[in-house]
Amino acid sequence: MREPALVPRLRPFTSTVFAEMTALAVRHDAVNLGQGFPDTDGPAGMLETAKNSLFGGDNQYPPGPGRPELRAAIGRHRQRYGASYDPDTEILVTAGATEAIAASLIALTEAGDEVIVVEPYYDSYAAAVAMAGARRRVIGLVETGNGQLELDLDALRDAINPKTRAVLLNSPHNPTGTVFSRGQLEEVARLCVEHDLIAVTDEVYEHLVFDGAEHLPLASFPGMRERTVAISSAGKTFNCTGWKIGWICSTPELVAAVKAAKQFITFVSGGPLQPAVAYALDNELEWVENLRVSLQEKRDRLSAGLADAGFAVRPSAGTYFVTADVRPLGFEDAAELAWTLPERAGVAAVPVKVFTDHPDEWKHLLRFAFCKRNEVIDEAVERLRKLV
Ligand code: PMP
Ligand code: GLN
Repeated sequence: MREPALVPRLRPFTSTVFAEMTALAVRHDAVNLGQGFPDTDGPAGMLETAKNSLFGGDNQYPPGPGRPELRAAIGRHRQRYGASYDPDTEILVTAGATEAIAASLIALTEAGDEVIVVEPYYDSYAAAVAMAGARRRVIGLVETGNGQLELDLDALRDAINPKTRAVLLNSPHNPTGTVFSRGQLEEVARLCVEHDLIAVTDEVYEHLVFDGAEHLPLASFPGMRERTVAISSAGKTFNCTGWKIGWICSTPELVAAVKAAKQFITFVSGGPLQPAVAYALDNELEWVENLRVSLQEKRDRLSAGLADAGFAVRPSAGTYFVTADVRPLGFEDAAELAWTLPERAGVAAVPVKVFTDHPDEWKHLLRFAFCKRNEVIDEAVERLRKLV
């Protein structure tokens, strides 16, 4: 028998839990709180701008680094963190954050290198490290006592070795909703500088932080501007996850490196959508603030509903997601529950353990997305109430 066609290093990544869960939700007509995508549209002005581009003949390849007006708007937007990036040399538009992450790892790491990844980790990280031919070195989040999670800094210190090339950090954190504190980020920055590491920071939820918490880009810490590839995406900020417009901000050298990989993955994408994202970055941040406030309310609404249905709900300080412990309901393994939940209860959620290398430590948690209309959240809660 011939060997399977897929190369061994990609064999663990044949399907994504999001696609599988959404398919299952559709099959059972379940309320889909699995895959994180909003069920309402982004700002009207942004959609109007996209329409004008589409019907205005703007339908050919944009420039490789992205449309100049979008790069300029990204530069202005990034100034909110007190940082200035040159739109011509320090900003690169990508096909969503997903391509930005993959292109960064492919460009900056290779066989023999280790990339430190925090578990639970967004699913594309492990696949992207594997595509780069590098090795992932996983550290975890630990409980602080009040149910909050934080980075295991001791584990980070232990994980760093001469092979370590990069740290891949995601805050606000999917799937747990953790927003890393200033003190923790300071220590991460210190270690990156001390060991001359590259930081790749996934900041797709940068605007979606709650309860007065603040998004602090790692690049803004001492010594980090010159070693950080900061990744953003319009998808989460402007409710347009299907557009796949993302970007990186970094140094000319790192941007040129990532561009070398990116230009042979997609070359370019989303030409007519890029002016619309530029418009939104310049004109729709008030809309985004309203989105943030409404998501905070939705977090509270879903968290209260889940608690009422018997789950032990964990705090979430940002993102689209809240996690909940299934053990009070009499279940041990949230994944077993998740795969039957659409049929059994008419609700889809994602088991956290699929985002980890240590599934036993995370097996009791389910991730629910609250980026949905209130009536959808209420319907899901109503159905979950009947679960036991
Ligand atoms: N990183 C994280 C943490 C995410 O949750 C997602 C999903 N939006 C992505 C990256 C991918 O973003 P995009 O859709 O822009 O590729
Ligand atoms: N980022 C979304 C989530 O975490 C899903 C994106 C995807 O389907 N790849 O749910």
